[in-house]
Amino acid sequence: MTIDVFNPANNEKIGEVKEFTEDEVGSTIERLQNGFSEWSKRKPSSRGMVLYKAAEIIRADQDRLAMILTSEQGKPYFEARNEIQGVAAVFEFYASIAGTICGHTTPKSDYGYAFTSKFPIGVCGAIIPWNVPALIMAWKVGPAIASGNTIIVKPAETTPFTNMGIAEALYSAGLPEDVLALVTGSGSITGAAIAKNRNIRHLSFTGSVDTGERISKMIDPGKVRLTLELGGSDPMIVCKDADIDKAVAGAVTGRFYNCGQICTAVKRLYVADEVADRFIDKLKTATEQLRIGDGAIEGTNLGPLNNIKGLNSIKKIVEDSSSSAKVITGAKKLDGPGNFYAPTLITDLESDSRLLTEEVFGPVLPIVRFEKLEEAIEMANSTRFGLGASIWTNDMRNASKAIDKIRSGILWVNRHSRIPPEVPFGGDKNSGIGRENGLNALEQYLVEKTVIISP
Ligand code: NDP
Repeated sequence: MTIDVFNPANNEKIGEVKEFTEDEVGSTIERLQNGFSEWSKRKPSSRGMVLYKAAEIIRADQDRLAMILTSEQGKPYFEARNEIQGVAAVFEFYASIAGTICGHTTPKSDYGYAFTSKFPIGVCGAIIPWNVPALIMAWKVGPAIASGNTIIVKPAETTPFTNMGIAEALYSAGLPEDVLALVTGSGSITGAAIAKNRNIRHLSFTGSVDTGERISKMIDPGKVRLTLELGGSDPMIVCKDADIDKAVAGAVTGRFYNCGQICTAVKRLYVADEVADRFIDKLKTATEQLRIGDGAIEGTNLGPLNNIKGLNSIKKIVEDSSSSAKVITGAKKLDGPGNFYAPTLITDLESDSRLLTEEVFGPVLPIVRFEKLEEAIEMANSTRFGLGASIWTNDMRNASKAIDKIRSGILWVNRHSRIPPEVPFGGDKNSGIGRENGLNALEQYLVEKTVIISP
């Protein structure tokens, strides 16, 4: 069976991929088990060299890879290039630390000496979403192979070709084909076959809370380490003392980058009453200046939604919320064949509006005014999500209150949504388990053995 892949800017078919069956996933994982015995013994520095080389190949090929990403995902070409460069940066980061994996020693005692040594765990699994498919693949593959594991990767149905391009770069860099295997197909068949397979030792999933919960019930919890990144409903708090122009620019990028389809996008905006009118006026102007269109056309800064399911869900959620609310701009599907939705600002929502309680994965920003910072922080904490959050202020006392009181895995002060490779990334509350990126991610792919030597 095959799965068709479409360009979301015009919904024309751009290709098709094979759907891997459960049996084929099983035999691929057996092949990766064989690959593990050789790869896990390679010198860490030699594993790092493969990642360095792959990064070099990806940088040299970034224009082509970015165009593939734009054509299947929809994001503007400049964003796609940023993402591909991000993949190279992640590979370089894990290449640079591959040789630093080490345990620790304890002082000599009456039992003798003790030290720990870290070993790769085996075959890992990665289930990738369609919103940032290249970078999220790198976040999983980079630490897994740097630390000596092998990995099976399932791209999302709508964005397989960018992931294939990255896999090809790794093979060209010298990565053996039985260290990384890419299996295309649907979540319900191919993805579930990975989650259910009993030879997987670590599974990393990024996507919706519902699918994450389903996956956590499929794995063998006694054997599989699970990393889940399950999205967010990030609040952005703008205090009265904030640099308003900087905060407006941050809100536009934070909400509309990648057409709002980012786990750490700004999904709720809380603005201090004293500056709200001025802020909203400026935000409306900046939002209406966004150039919407096919991401492959130069000058586009807002592409289509990736898929029709996402477009319909945005339409519905806005329709459900807008009867009592005030639409400042947008709130409509745009004419034409692609999945385009106008960038939207909405105020005067009920506190239980779905726009304020769910993860809204599209270009719609609800705005809420507040009088006291404590009240804004309480509203910021009012959802089940806890991925990212930001506060915009020039007063350290405000920033410090947010750092202390907001429940989130990441908190930005005077910015939102940039995650460099060395920074740990993950959620609090229902937004996930474990961390990706940074040094921490390596630990998730290693098992520590304690050795005690008696004289
Ligand atoms: P999913 O969580 O369903 O998809 C993410 C990945 O999981 C895809 O590769 C998908 O495969 C796979 N998958 C789906 N079902 C299973 C399963 N039973 N077993 C194993 N793997 C599975 O997200 P959707 O694409 O349906 O998007 C729905 C919503 O999820 C979005 O609107 C957004 O709110 C949220 N989301 C959040 C993301 C984030 O980064 N926070 C990323 C993506 C979605 P396939 O696509 O091939 O079917």
